[in-house]
Amino acid sequence: MKIKTLDDNEIDLNQDTIESLKRRLRGQVLIPGDIGYEESRTVWNGIIDRRPTFIVRCLGTADVIACMQFVREHKLLICIKGGGHNIAGLGTADGALMLDMSLMRGIMVDPVRKIAHTQVGCLLSDVDSETQLYGLAAVLGFVSTTGVTGLTLGGGFGYLTRRWGWTSDNVTGMNVVTADAKLVRASSEENEDLFWGLRGGGGNFGIVTEIDYSLFPVGPEIVGGMVAWHASDAPEVLELYQELAKQAPPELTLVALMRPAPPAPWLPKEMHGKPIIAIVACYSGDPYDGVKVVAPIKAFGNPVGDVLIRRPYTQMQSLIDTANPKGRRYYWKSEYLPRIEPALCDRIISHAAKISSPHSAIILFQVEGALNNVGQEHSSVGNRDAHFLLNIPGSWEKAGDDKENIRWVREAWDDMKSFSTGGNYINFQTEDEGRDRINASLGRGIQQLGKLKTKWDPQNVFRMNRNIRPA
Ligand SMILES: Cc1cc2nc3c(=O)[nH]c(=O)nc-3n(C[C@H](O)[C@H](O)[C@H](O)COP(=O)(O)OP(=O)(O)OC[C@H]3O[C@@H](n4cnc5c(N)ncnc54)[C@H](O)[C@@H]3O)c2cc1C
Repeated sequence: MKIKTLDDNEIDLNQDTIESLKRRLRGQVLIPGDIGYEESRTVWNGIIDRRPTFIVRCLGTADVIACMQFVREHKLLICIKGGGHNIAGLGTADGALMLDMSLMRGIMVDPVRKIAHTQVGCLLSDVDSETQLYGLAAVLGFVSTTGVTGLTLGGGFGYLTRRWGWTSDNVTGMNVVTADAKLVRASSEENEDLFWGLRGGGGNFGIVTEIDYSLFPVGPEIVGGMVAWHASDAPEVLELYQELAKQAPPELTLVALMRPAPPAPWLPKEMHGKPIIAIVACYSGDPYDGVKVVAPIKAFGNPVGDVLIRRPYTQMQSLIDTANPKGRRYYWKSEYLPRIEPALCDRIISHAAKISSPHSAIILFQVEGALNNVGQEHSSVGNRDAHFLLNIPGSWEKAGDDKENIRWVREAWDDMKSFSTGGNYINFQTEDEGRDRINASLGRGIQQLGKLKTKWDPQNVFRMNRNIRPA
């Protein structure tokens, strides 16, 4: 069985060698043709089509250590798949050994200390379900099928970010298997340098096996949802969005988006496929206050649909899941913004009018708040000057339409990137984004991250990521 090595060569692994690995594992080894191989190798973005030579479906930390020992013995190229949601498909690689962590979905919630001990194959919905049993929540993202690990290692933001910062700001510790196959703890008490680097620097320093999250009282009910208007109302709605964002208490997060209306039951049939503008709002504090805070959105103009209501927090967390199914083709571009300028709004409206697929959108996420009040010494995640995030998610169905849709995203991005802080979100980067974009997303921490990489992974074993090269 031919497999790639770290020095860009290939070696032949015979059956006996694979059997010797199998004997060390609790989890399954999958090779092409095995039941489960296709499911395991594929990732969320249908553009990505890679075939690892074989896959280990890890069941625990001991499996990860056994794999790392094997990798060291044979100097193999590895990739690590968590939730498989990375747009660039970083969880999978041709000819590599894949460690598929997606069966490691255990969570233990300590409601007294308000900590969730989380295995790294968890999806956001796993953590929300378990923590909401106690009226608690971790700071996670907007789509519940996303993997917690990739999201956390690159920063992570969602409806609670304005109150408590990036997801990675709210990690209290991680267990990590290093390049020399040792299990270490990274926290503010142990291996502080590694802890700093892991919270923003991605999977560059080791294989994380557990993440501990601080939890906060949220829910079980919040006020959240969406109001939509015809796209012709976009100038006024974007003005409203800016006004409300300026005054928004930290409990309120506002997202504005323009796209063709999806065939959703809450939108009238005659609107399906027609251009709309929508505001997504989530008030994560007391619902009694939330109803009053979101009232101006519901009362504005003539909405074509309104599902901004009291609802379970877990429902809010999965509100836009169906807009992002696994297997469709995706190409995104993002920029952090210091503010929203009228000239940017004009361009959003003009590029939204040229959207080339019923699934694509232009989105503004409000992130300003707690993350702006933390210094670079806290963790390596960049962009603490960000107030909004502009994302241009292109999404379509057929490979034949790749060119046209990628062109639309790139044209819109080219025309709007001048409004950026200069930073972009590392977790939204596509396959074709190079060193300059990685550096821009990591910001001032890049030099320190290079030193850490040299210390913890001098051979660059962990390279299937937004790679930081050893010095
Ligand atoms: C539909 C959608 C919605 C999203 N929404 C949000 C959002 O609201 N907020 C937000 O912040 N981000 C969001 N993201 C971006 C998301 O954070 C990234 O795609 C992230 O990489 C997903 O993590 P994953 O574990 O699913 O990815 P994977 O593709 O499995 O992995 C991503 C990277 O992490 C590495 N990795 C995974 N597990 C480990 C591990 N155990 N140890 C070391 N390295 C590991 C992989 O090797 C790879 O380099 C969204 C993405 C999608 C597709």
